[in-house]
Amino acid sequence: MIAYPWKNGIILDTGFAKIAIDVPRPVLGAVHIVTHAHSDHTGAARRAHVLSTIGTHEILRVLGYSTSEPVHEGNIRVFGGTEVHFIPAGHIPGSAQLVVDDGRRIVVTGDWKLEDDILEPGAEVPTDVDVLILETTFSAPQYQFPPRMQIYEEMERWVKVNMDIGNHVVLFGYATGKSQELTALLNSWGVVPVVPERTHKINAIFGLSDILIGSEGWREHVAEPAVFVLPPNFADILPGLEAELGRPIVARSCSGWARNGFRLSSHGDFRQSLDFVERSNPRLILTYGGNALQFAAVLCRIGYDATPLTKTVFI
Ligand SMILES: [Zn+2]
Repeated sequence: MIAYPWKNGIILDTGFAKIAIDVPRPVLGAVHIVTHAHSDHTGAARRAHVLSTIGTHEILRVLGYSTSEPVHEGNIRVFGGTEVHFIPAGHIPGSAQLVVDDGRRIVVTGDWKLEDDILEPGAEVPTDVDVLILETTFSAPQYQFPPRMQIYEEMERWVKVNMDIGNHVVLFGYATGKSQELTALLNSWGVVPVVPERTHKINAIFGLSDILIGSEGWREHVAEPAVFVLPPNFADILPGLEAELGRPIVARSCSGWARNGFRLSSHGDFRQSLDFVERSNPRLILTYGGNALQFAAVLCRIGYDATPLTKTVFI
């Protein structure tokens, strides 16, 4: 089998089947799989038949993709004699790792995190792995996130203090995944956030409570201090919103990248990456995404066989 990067996706070619994972465009003759519903992973779903978990399928459906086919967890599909099944990745609702078995076990993590969050348990760590193809966006020593429960507590204090003094609060997070975590968290404190349409549609899949911006009654809801959960590209509307609603707005980002916000990452950090590798104990590790070269070098220094997946690798 060979593995190689293709755009921001990965292709596994067994010689009898070509498995295209999270590729941005359809690949001729390939079986297409989408690991989760973030838009940089779903490009192929616009034009090709794709397989995904039921959770991802549900999100893709409300976002207007009609080509995805849901696969139950534990349900094994066979392509050219190679078995493929999904296990949880803990990244966002519906996210999956792929376990590919051609007599050896090859695991493609997709985006992942080990830590539980309020909606999702952390990733299942596979065992007896021959080749681990590991996403490494935050797998560098400078990325060591505080425990999630600690971040949740800081967020609760900050949100409630600001509402008490009469501010509207904005929490920025991607509409798919992060916004559902934020909404679930706010709901657990008895707060119903105001959200835009895309977030509202995805929240509905998970039975979360929100108020749709512009819907009937939303004006009454924001007459008192309220919380808005908005995707980062809504930052430009804040000055206008503040003027329109006549109340100060305070805003924080919720992301692993946030410098002055809450470092609420949906990816594993450096420690989690080392933990994942130790527990799955693979014979070979291929790293991909940000920090792939650096993390492969770290793994080699501590005795693993690791290489970045920047070109074709025979596995
Ligand atoms: Zn993602």
